Amino acid sequence: MSKGLFLDRDGTLILDKHYLADPAGVELIPGVVDGLRRARSLGYKLFLFTNQSGIGRGLHTLDDVLRVNARMEELLGLPHPLFTDICIAPESSDQPPVYRKPSPRFIVETIARHSLDVTQCWMVGDREGDIQAGLNAKIGAAAVCTGKYDAAGWAALALPGVPVFPSFSEFAATLR
Ligand SMILES: [Mg+2]
Repeated sequence: MSKGLFLDRDGTLILDKHYLADPAGVELIPGVVDGLRRARSLGYKLFLFTNQSGIGRGLHTLDDVLRVNARMEELLGLPHPLFTDICIAPESSDQPPVYRKPSPRFIVETIARHSLDVTQCWMVGDREGDIQAGLNAKIGAAAVCTGKYDAAGWAALALPGVPVFPSFSEFAATLR
């Protein structure tokens, strides 16, 4: 069985620019390259799991999101394919959720499809929806402080059993 990391994009791997549609605006969060390299070297399969409600709201298109993803992968400079699978949830918050976090559907389906060991899977993200998706899928959930919340913000949310890290790289350093 394989180990799996489910990774939020905005605020976790790249700076959250809110409805980013221009690939030129992609900025990696420091330490992400080394963190991803470490996870890969330890045998983790990587899955990108991103809510992109700007599609559902008509603010940008799926093609825009794909171009931003491509630019992110270009900046990361890691061997292809970097992600075993990618889920882009296009629903806005007032549309019926299909894959939109906190739905665990993508994680649950991916665990089955790739025979992942649920005891060695994590969802990592910067918002409550990321954490809740991981918890709903009964895998580990880890919070980072490079997006919506700083450490005090996460502490105020008081999510029991959810470790909080300054950034993805500190999380990745704990992987074995
Ligand atoms: Mg995010």
